[in-house]
Amino acid sequence: MSPPGAVEDIAAFRLRARQWLAQHMPRLPDGVDNQSLLEADEYGLRARALQRLLHDAGFAGLCFPVEYGGQGLTRAHQQAFTEESVPYRMPVVFNVPTLSILAPTLLDFGTEEQKKRHLPAIIRGDEIWVQMLSEPSGGSDLAGLVTSGKRDGDAFVVNGSKIWTSGAFRADYAMCLVRTDWHAPKHRGLTMLIVKIHQPRIEVRRIKRVNGNMDFCQEFFDDLLVPVEDVLGEENKGWAVASRLLYHEREAAGGGSHYVSGVASGNAEEGGQQTDLIELATATGQGDDPRVRQLVAEAVVNDRVQQQLIERVTTGIKNEHFPLPAGAFLRLFAAINGERRHDIGLELAGVSGGTWCDDDPGGE
Ligand SMILES: Cc1cc2nc3c(=O)[nH]c(=O)nc-3n(C[C@H](O)[C@H](O)[C@H](O)COP(=O)(O)OP(=O)(O)OC[C@H]3O[C@@H](n4cnc5c(N)ncnc54)[C@H](O)[C@@H]3O)c2cc1C
Repeated sequence: MSPPGAVEDIAAFRLRARQWLAQHMPRLPDGVDNQSLLEADEYGLRARALQRLLHDAGFAGLCFPVEYGGQGLTRAHQQAFTEESVPYRMPVVFNVPTLSILAPTLLDFGTEEQKKRHLPAIIRGDEIWVQMLSEPSGGSDLAGLVTSGKRDGDAFVVNGSKIWTSGAFRADYAMCLVRTDWHAPKHRGLTMLIVKIHQPRIEVRRIKRVNGNMDFCQEFFDDLLVPVEDVLGEENKGWAVASRLLYHEREAAGGGSHYVSGVASGNAEEGGQQTDLIELATATGQGDDPRVRQLVAEAVVNDRVQQQLIERVTTGIKNEHFPLPAGAFLRLFAAINGERRHDIGLELAGVSGGTWCDDDPGGE
């Protein structure tokens, strides 16, 4: 440990993390990653316990300020911890959107009281958060939303419905964007509320997807009372909060968030994904085919470009060479790269990419 006030050297921190992880965190079974274990921990109970374990050892919220329960460390510390934690079971359900999107938004817009109330609880594993933005009448036109928050004294009375909320059934709090002024131009009549999810006057219904996954939810609000002290940012200035939230979302989805642990992200992911495609090419007997090697090489190069883009954009934003919306480049490139990677995977898998048996190497 470094003396109080000094930032621990990265190599020393990495070694300390490596030793602690080996002693305290359960190892992942061979060939299994944290993402694939999410469904087995449907309500996130195991994740909460693991997050608590990280917290108690001083390895949670590495880049969050110390006054809000974090460790006040740098992106490089987080990167080192992420790389070390890849072989272990980690509470990844906290990563998106709680730690990477909503906690940073709370940090940007919360009052001192809101930050003190929620950030330490999130980092400790006591609160999972979700985002309630989209509505049944359409989500792309976010500023056109119609869930209403009518001011009544010291509270807002909320009525309406949100949909496609990932993981609401297991979460504790939501950032929920509602219309509080019906006469202002649409972007200027919105307010972001902090909403406690499990309480009377909110009904959460799970939605079953075609693949059986039931992570999406729809919520119905029936005269739900939200106290004014739970407004995040200012009344009728919720668009500024939503825009910042979406900036953090783009950064997280593009792989640039420095608030997450334990996912195969950054260089760790690059290694994992390369191995997947190489294994697939080998398992399907195409490892020596020059055309297949060319495709795998293309995927590797795309990953390198993505890593360098993350570095360039996140550093540029931090140094104020780029404006915050430059984070959208990360989201866009991650989507293009992901789509191309899946195309290549499908091409390598051949017919088993469409119909497969359990022992078929191309199935997954
Ligand atoms: C994996 C996943 C997780 C999600 N998690 C959440 C979550 O946690 N919380 C949440 O609030 N939402 C979530 N969403 C919802 C997502 O943000 C919505 O899908 C999005 O807001 C789009 O809304 P919609 O599906 O109603 O489509 P619509 O808005 O109805 O759009 C349908 C189509 O019409 C096009 N379109 C829409 N408006 C226009 C226009 N004016 N001009 C031209 N074309 C237009 C769109 O591009 C799209 O192709 C999630 C979605 C996914 C896929």
